[in-house]
Amino acid sequence: MLVLAVLSFAGCSERAAIQELLSEHAGGQQELVEPVPQLLAVELPPVVEEPVYEPEEDLTPEPEQSEYNAPPVDGGRRSRLNIDMRGAKMVALTFDDGPIAVHTDRILDLLEEHGGRATFFVQGYRVASHSEIIQRTVRLGSEVAGHSWNHQDYSLIEDEAVIEADIRSTSEAIRAVGGNPPAIYRPPFGRTNNAAEQASARLGYAIINWTLDTRDWEHRDPDIVYDSIMRTVESGDIIVMHDVHGSTAEAMERVIPALIEQGFELVTVTELLTHAFGELEPGVVYGRNYNRN
Ligand SMILES: [Zn+2]
Repeated sequence: MLVLAVLSFAGCSERAAIQELLSEHAGGQQELVEPVPQLLAVELPPVVEEPVYEPEEDLTPEPEQSEYNAPPVDGGRRSRLNIDMRGAKMVALTFDDGPIAVHTDRILDLLEEHGGRATFFVQGYRVASHSEIIQRTVRLGSEVAGHSWNHQDYSLIEDEAVIEADIRSTSEAIRAVGGNPPAIYRPPFGRTNNAAEQASARLGYAIINWTLDTRDWEHRDPDIVYDSIMRTVESGDIIVMHDVHGSTAEAMERVIPALIEQGFELVTVTELLTHAFGELEPGVVYGRNYNRN
């Protein structure tokens, strides 16, 4: 690979800097051009070990007024917010919207390396084209569950049959590639309505939201992801993140070992909730409840 770069910073090691910049910019497609000083023509070896990240697709454009901004409404709903782990020290890392090449695998690499499990709430339309990632997830003891077919807001759908078909088709897609989905799902944006709760109850599915929100989709900053978890994490937390963002995968490089260092067992959300409640109850929202009715 022949790379032309003009460097204007004094005193840096050009070769190392170029390599770092190239790996940051996903394969050297960016032009690193500054006016004048020294023109260097550098022959670099192909950067084979450096993973090539998929460009950040905006898989789920989040609305300005995301429901993530709204306070949860727990009064009178069929929800379980207080998760008593009865002495066990467990947390559930959960990742929404994928799978996606490289970022999901990077998180799986870390879970495998440090000995942890997690839950991946995937969009149904992405499953068939990412079957290997799903199979690997399950092989490593993590779980894959549905997050709708393509991120429809269930709280805007009044027809229970439509919601039911969406939940079922996503689970069937996961099952078709060997993903062994549990009877749980996470609604897009965490939003439900009574129709969604009733459809879930009839299908036998529990609804899984979260207790700790990193807002990683908003700031895309690994340090903020790390701080938002490590400052407040308690046993029983269900932590919501998005594996479609490289910044989140990067944050996991520090978060996963730090949680294990503090004595937390990283479990799937099914393991966590089963430990706390026994059987999961269909139609019930676990974590914060954003039911709109
Ligand atoms: Zn989502």
